[in-house]
Amino acid sequence: TLSTLVKFKNQNIIAIDGDNLVFCIAEGESEIEIEVGKTTRICGIMPILQRETIVTTNGLRWNLDKTPLEFGTLISSSNELTSNKMILRIFRRSFSQKIQQHQLQHEYDLIVIGGGSGGLSCSKAASDLGARVALIDAVQPTPDGKSWGIGGTCANVGCIPKKLMHHAAIVGRELKHAEKYGWKSSGNSQHNWSTLVEVVNDRIKANNWVYRVQLNEKGIKYYNAFGTIIDRNTVSTQGVDKKKTSNILKAKNIVISTGLRPIYPKIEGAELGITSDDLFSLEKSPGKTLVVGGGYVALECAGLLADLGHDVDLLIRSEPLKNFDKDCVDKVVSNLESHGVNIKWRDEVVKVEKSGENLEKKRVHFKNSDDPIQYDTVIWAMGRKPNISKIGLENVKVSQSAKNGRILADEFDRTSQDGIYAIGDIVFNRNELTPLAIQSGKLLAKRLFDGSKEIVEYEKVATTVFTPLELSTIGLTEHDALRLYGEHDIEIYHSYFTPFEHVISQDSDSKYCYVKLICMRNEPQNILGLHFVGPNAAEIMQGFAVAFRRGITFSDIKSTIAIHPCSAEEFLKLQITKRSGLDPRVAGCCG
Ligand code: FAD
Repeated sequence: TLSTLVKFKNQNIIAIDGDNLVFCIAEGESEIEIEVGKTTRICGIMPILQRETIVTTNGLRWNLDKTPLEFGTLISSSNELTSNKMILRIFRRSFSQKIQQHQLQHEYDLIVIGGGSGGLSCSKAASDLGARVALIDAVQPTPDGKSWGIGGTCANVGCIPKKLMHHAAIVGRELKHAEKYGWKSSGNSQHNWSTLVEVVNDRIKANNWVYRVQLNEKGIKYYNAFGTIIDRNTVSTQGVDKKKTSNILKAKNIVISTGLRPIYPKIEGAELGITSDDLFSLEKSPGKTLVVGGGYVALECAGLLADLGHDVDLLIRSEPLKNFDKDCVDKVVSNLESHGVNIKWRDEVVKVEKSGENLEKKRVHFKNSDDPIQYDTVIWAMGRKPNISKIGLENVKVSQSAKNGRILADEFDRTSQDGIYAIGDIVFNRNELTPLAIQSGKLLAKRLFDGSKEIVEYEKVATTVFTPLELSTIGLTEHDALRLYGEHDIEIYHSYFTPFEHVISQDSDSKYCYVKLICMRNEPQNILGLHFVGPNAAEIMQGFAVAFRRGITFSDIKSTIAIHPCSAEEFLKLQITKRSGLDPRVAGCCG
């Protein structure tokens, strides 16, 4: 209760009604001095206020970092009261600003911060279960100024544009062989980068639109804004519109799914390079390109650019594709080289500077060489860091990994702060894969709003590297199987094969196509891992993944009647073990 009004300057009092004082704040700075009791509760309908516009004195403080100014209520923290007088200083902006900065409080069952694969799936599943959902998504522009719409990394700057460009590269390779199949070639198979960027980005925009329609249809409130957690139930939004519209949202549950962003090296001139966030919408053809990194993004970008006709150097400081089967990685890397990618092993970039006539080129200095090299484009693909700079983790008790800053969450996606969950790439020790983020989002929504106990099984997940020859895999690598069971207890079947795509074209790629199956040596020879290097590897492995998750044996594979002729049947034809030392090259095709 408001006890006594001591001073009330420059204001129009509208009414004093018992304990309630109703007033109107004039434009400019105003002061209200009031006497307060220990349990004073001050309610203000102050939709125009920004946090920094309130100053209180005489010892009564609101913890303004933690207590949002909201349309409705400001509650004093009574145990911090050291005086019974307080001055509330308020600065009111002009009427037009008042409209722009209008802060309203909205109540939801679930607030999701981040509208990528994880956030979208969680929001949609929660809404299907009857929850009132707000989804907040915005993109911090790249240093090159690029930004994009809803859908997160996968839809805008990851899987989708990457796969479309990978396919563009395959089309180019097929064109080279077209005449062998009787097609008349126009003789002009030069690639036009701008056309590709245009069609890829049209596709992306179409996807952005579909997401927005879906959110609308499901009644999910979409805020194209940055979300900042203020306390365990409150999120403020700052719109990316010109007016920077802000809102205060409240919910019992908050999900963080803000993903990762590429890392720039800490070297002079790093800003002259770009990342995969810029590549797929790059207006100018990349030209002579240096790709720096040994992960899948680096190898995929290098491969597709080389196949699109660019001169590509790939700098790998240590081991490429660390968690994949070594034999398969060797094939993929040799195949990249055969596609014209020049691999610079065990070196580092130490400096990049502008060069060329119009200073449009980049001169790159390497650690192990005195001669710098000039490139048109430098792409950093050296890993990704958590996208957490704007999400207000400092306001809540959400723990992060000391190793890489990612959020720590348990198998139920719970963070160390009650009511706050994390899903997708932002979570420590989770594989960076869209389908995992999607599944986590869906199952979390079911646990929150449908009483489900189901959790994601993070083991036994198939994945593919979309290099010119794709590498697809599920289960243990040979190295891990040996480490876990020892050489005596495991059996490895393998073979080289010629995919039908290469039979007539005599494509040199066929010498890298390889299939490997790892199983226990003793009956029933449970399968531990499947690995495939060849065309359409992703399509092939998806079906095997279903079976593998159920637990299959080598005799299950051998007794399955093949689909003929196709590359997937190579798994069914396996008979040569690595232990035997026999030549694993397959000859003949039909029996
Ligand atoms: P994201 O999709 O990154 O979404 C996070 C969203 O949150 C973003 O829109 C971000 O801008 C937004 N955000 C961040 N902070 C805030 C904030 N404070 N307020 C509001 N919004 C915020 N995976 C595969 O499975 N297959 C592939 O072939 C594949 N290829 C890839 C290729 C590349 C080049 C890259 C970079 C990634 C690829 N991935 C692939 C990985 C895949 O894209 C990610 O695993 C997936 O997008 C993760 O989803 P997410 O929801 O965790 O995060």
